[in-house]
Amino acid sequence: MAEETLHLGQTLHFEADPFAAGPSAARHDSAGAILVADGRIRALGSAASLRAAHPRARVVDHGQALLTAGFVDAHVHYPQTRIIASWGKRLIDWLNSYTFPEEMRLADPAYARAVAEDYLDLVLAQGTTTVCSYATIHPDSVDAIFEAAEARGMRVLAGKTCMDRNAPEGLRDTAQSAYDDSKALLDRWHGCGRASYVITPRFSPTSTPEQLSALGALWAEHPDCLMQTHLSEQLDEIAWVRSLFPQARDYLDTYEAHGLLGPNGLYGHAIHLDPREIDRLSEVGAALVHCPTSNSFIGSGLFDMAGLTARGLRVGLATDTGGGSSFSMLRTMAAAYEIGQLRGTPLHASQLIWLATQGSARALRLDDRIGNLAPGMEADFIALDLASTPAIAQRAARAEDIWEALFATIMMGDDRAIAGTWVAGQRTSPAAS
Ligand SMILES: [Zn+2]
Repeated sequence: MAEETLHLGQTLHFEADPFAAGPSAARHDSAGAILVADGRIRALGSAASLRAAHPRARVVDHGQALLTAGFVDAHVHYPQTRIIASWGKRLIDWLNSYTFPEEMRLADPAYARAVAEDYLDLVLAQGTTTVCSYATIHPDSVDAIFEAAEARGMRVLAGKTCMDRNAPEGLRDTAQSAYDDSKALLDRWHGCGRASYVITPRFSPTSTPEQLSALGALWAEHPDCLMQTHLSEQLDEIAWVRSLFPQARDYLDTYEAHGLLGPNGLYGHAIHLDPREIDRLSEVGAALVHCPTSNSFIGSGLFDMAGLTARGLRVGLATDTGGGSSFSMLRTMAAAYEIGQLRGTPLHASQLIWLATQGSARALRLDDRIGNLAPGMEADFIALDLASTPAIAQRAARAEDIWEALFATIMMGDDRAIAGTWVAGQRTSPAAS
């Protein structure tokens, strides 16, 4: 029989979507426990009942820490790790000034490997157990992130970024090579261990119609794969798309016309959407990804969380490293709250933590495996210290319920609040002692 470990602490899990059901969608147990064996959660319940039922399990007592699912970051660019927090540009200038020169450096497989490893260690320390990443145009950069994830046991999604125009020499592929390289990587990695391949055109301005069609054909051959791209992030970008695709009804149509709109599509940003675009995204059941630190950092705009979730759209939450200004999903939740306030629709703490876990997992079609504490789920979880700094501790001491306590950590917490991160039941951060 597999060794069982019983983790004791406060526990938080979801039985429904808090955007539909309100905060009662969440279940909090101030003296809870998680039973883990073979990398999966076997049982969830009160500490007393699980101790009695599993007397031989190894016990790890996390005290007052809050045990919750590991964070799921639904849109990142791991190659931009070294250029996070670069000053003063908006989207197109930011790509040309900072992103493309750095992405060029990942042509060196050793450099790509080093960045991928540093990136995953950084996010594990922030409590993030799954990311969905863009790589660069270089196939080796995809191998680098999947190999680094495999070494850490992490469930990671990634794909080769495809660009065949409006990018510098050295960062352009072709319609044919984008198809061939993506297909080879998909065959190598999709479903291999915990890896999922994601078909990844960067965005319409950097792909010719021929390349978009080639990737649409690849997606049609592998409809179970996700397809990720960017949509309607900044007004200048939308005007540029209009000039590049004069036949298109709108930005989304540049994807739809080439087979790149579907239920497994993942559209990052989606800030300045026309009513037709919202209707189509909702009809096909596509997912959107909200990247709030990026949207304020690059000056993009205010995502309409309340309006889009009310339309039934699946929405994930993401850092958008390195357009986003933090690797932390706590900071990202705080930014989502602030953007909600600027729109007059503040998010409840239950909605924020749900977006960072189950909501993102649902956007990635992985909510039956990760993003929640429940029997049968993969044991990717964290221990949150709800009194990690003197400032947070003094506020949490006054909290009248778990939501007040958690909200102080969401708004003011950082990696010091992550007391531990477990991936498939194994402690990854801080390193096991
Ligand atoms: Zn992005």
